[in-house]
Amino acid sequence: MASPEFTFELRVCQWTEREWTPGTGRDGSDSAVLVARQLGIRERRWDTLVVECDPEGLAARAVFGTDRLDSDLLHVVRNAPKEWAYYREALPDPGYPWRYVREAIHTADDRGIVETRRAGNRIEIRRNWHYPDWVRRIVAIENKPDLDASAARALGDQLERDVALALADEVWVATAATGDSAERSSAGSRHSSCSGERVEPALFERLPVEVGILTVTPGGNGERTRVDTAWEPSSLAVDDPGTRIVDRPDGGPNDESAARFEYADPEWKRAKRLEIAERAYERGWRSYVDTMRTDCRQFELRDDGDTLPWCAAKGHSPTGRECSGSCPEFTPEPPQWRTRGWPIEGGPGKGLKRLLERQRQRQRDP
Ligand code: SF4
Repeated sequence: MASPEFTFELRVCQWTEREWTPGTGRDGSDSAVLVARQLGIRERRWDTLVVECDPEGLAARAVFGTDRLDSDLLHVVRNAPKEWAYYREALPDPGYPWRYVREAIHTADDRGIVETRRAGNRIEIRRNWHYPDWVRRIVAIENKPDLDASAARALGDQLERDVALALADEVWVATAATGDSAERSSAGSRHSSCSGERVEPALFERLPVEVGILTVTPGGNGERTRVDTAWEPSSLAVDDPGTRIVDRPDGGPNDESAARFEYADPEWKRAKRLEIAERAYERGWRSYVDTMRTDCRQFELRDDGDTLPWCAAKGHSPTGRECSGSCPEFTPEPPQWRTRGWPIEGGPGKGLKRLLERQRQRQRDP
């Protein structure tokens, strides 16, 4: 079965990587862009994530390796002193048992990103490098190719939560532009600024006004995906306290329950934003290839304007779930493909993985 949502998402990621125009930093310099997919926090995952980075900071981040730094490692790496010091005196109280800090120190040492030594029965640490301030803005994009009334209602509720929490600097919805007229207006009401004429304006009214709208003309037949801005988003107050909407009345005539909210303090938001950026740095958007059966002889990467995974047996771009060990049509690469070093050492599947990994690495280089 084809998956329009999955391929739509990959197309949006490629457009974003190619065309996203980030804001400039405080010093007026351009930002570098990292794109990832399916990332967020425990209770919320965004389809496409754009991390706008300080280019020098991004280059400095590279010395810590391509694997992400999780919250425990960040605590160590960001606070490790320049000169040798007992770790309990050098690091701020983590708010959780120190034994986890010791574990993180040993992991950081194994990865070569801090140094440790024994002084009696004390562990001393010092940093190898200063951890840079590399993240400028985080932009979340929700992909919804078929924005019908019920999808808009469900999405509207979810996006209100995103706006209230303000963990991302901007939130967008990307939906398929089905109109062939792309008449645009930069002024006027929200209705008249929609570029895809057949994207029902009434549906947009169900989305929070702070959320931007992108109308997407998917690529194919040698054409790259094109995207128009139908509505500009508002910048969200990421440095202010956020509101977590825990529960809200469903609005039915018999529903007398009250909405429940929680406060999200700015420190928590700052930490989560950095953890999300670290995961984006590690994964990028090509991580789909890590779980797909690239070692199946039916697996291909096809360029129809955008690059997509392709199943020659099924004749469509498969999802990660479809293209897995449980696929009944999985056909392993013949062993001779791997031994003859054709076309790239290790067989075509490994070669495709390496190709995508090289492309992923290029995006980390500002
Ligand atoms: S594992 Fe299945 S879906 Fe994936 S390429 Fe092979 S036949 Fe196609």
